[in-house]
Amino acid sequence: MSATLPPKKPAPKAPVEVVKELSMVKQKEMIAGNYEKLATAREQGRKVASTFVPGNLNELLMCFDLVNNLPEINAIQNGMRKKSGQYIMEAEKRGHSEDVCTYVKADLGMMAKGNVGPDGRPIPDPDILLLSYTGCFTFMKWFELLREQYGCETAMLHVPYQGDGRIDANMRDYVVKQLKEEVIPKLERVSGVKFDIDRLREYLRESAKAEDDLVWVLESAKHKPSPIDAYFGGCYYIGPIFTAFRGTPDATEYYRLLRGEIEERIRLGQGPVTPEGEMKTEKYRLVVEGPPNWTSFRDFWKMFYDEGAVVVASTYTKVGGTYDLGFRHDPDRPLESLAEYCLGCYTNRNLPSRIDMIEKYVNEYEADGLLINSIKSCNSFSAGQLLVLREIEKRTGRPGAFIETDLVDPRYFSPANVKNRMESYFQMIEQKRQGARSAAAA
Ligand code: SF4
Repeated sequence: MSATLPPKKPAPKAPVEVVKELSMVKQKEMIAGNYEKLATAREQGRKVASTFVPGNLNELLMCFDLVNNLPEINAIQNGMRKKSGQYIMEAEKRGHSEDVCTYVKADLGMMAKGNVGPDGRPIPDPDILLLSYTGCFTFMKWFELLREQYGCETAMLHVPYQGDGRIDANMRDYVVKQLKEEVIPKLERVSGVKFDIDRLREYLRESAKAEDDLVWVLESAKHKPSPIDAYFGGCYYIGPIFTAFRGTPDATEYYRLLRGEIEERIRLGQGPVTPEGEMKTEKYRLVVEGPPNWTSFRDFWKMFYDEGAVVVASTYTKVGGTYDLGFRHDPDRPLESLAEYCLGCYTNRNLPSRIDMIEKYVNEYEADGLLINSIKSCNSFSAGQLLVLREIEKRTGRPGAFIETDLVDPRYFSPANVKNRMESYFQMIEQKRQGARSAAAA
């Protein structure tokens, strides 16, 4: 009698290999390069500036040879590497409330635990804090805490809010005056480098080239099927231009490569590249408002992938510049264009202008509707989102939906809830489609 063989276990599924396009490899190298510059800044005798993404003045910082450290990016990188939870708990232990923006707590917790960066290497204390204040009050409070901690030089650029939904000449002149009288002299003093406006023009020329290609990439989502995902993929696409690379030849090269890859996908009629592989069938086209969740970024994206949902436009990809509305850095008007850039960031726009933008996206990108990812700890985005939803539904006749997550706090990502809501939303879209078909047949 032969021995009974144990039932055969199903072969484990081979992990899906993420397609690494050249642009992805390039971006990874660039980010690693900036962390390397930060880790070695002291040995290299370089000074460090800390600054925020919206309204960042990267080209100006480069004129003073400053290494750019972006606390929000550290929080995001820590979130994606599942390190932010412990830092947030540390900050809460030290008295920061549960409602505070979790980028802030992830940053403060990281500092409290020795300021070791996401790549495991130390982040040096900044020599200057440059706060370009674009609409979110949290930025100011955050930098007050950092100033207390580091006791270093602080430069604050006050950017007037677009309360009336437009940029007036006096608003621009006010920002330019501060650049000339406050920001540039401080950067000169801290860095020991004299300001050279021609150097700034050179960087701005480079920025504008990259911005042209970024806009082309974002607008490629008007194709059907869309060759990109403008939210999850979009987060990668905005990386270089929103951070320490705008104005560098590296960023220009990154966008040139990316554009080439997307041109090829359009030629082949392909959908977006996702971590699960290529999106083969585009069933739903969505516009998304609000930042993504970073701690479960891949699982979150997969929920869209599994349903055949592609994001064709998002507001998050405009926080560091609304280039798709026509703005370009201009080497012929260097300081004026830096001012207009800060004034035009998404976080600096009032609610009616944000609604107009979203309506335009839903119509121009032929989306099935608007999905809002409301971020528990981000007041700047969350304020007024229900009103935005209702107004967009009214204006476009397309359904909207609301989900809630957080930025980098893993406690506030509930996969079952998010999935449920999204499934109901897709059913709603199906019903709308069915209704439209019946009406057409009648
Ligand atoms: S915009 Fe939101 S995420 Fe950014 S600093 Fe302000 S509250 Fe935090």
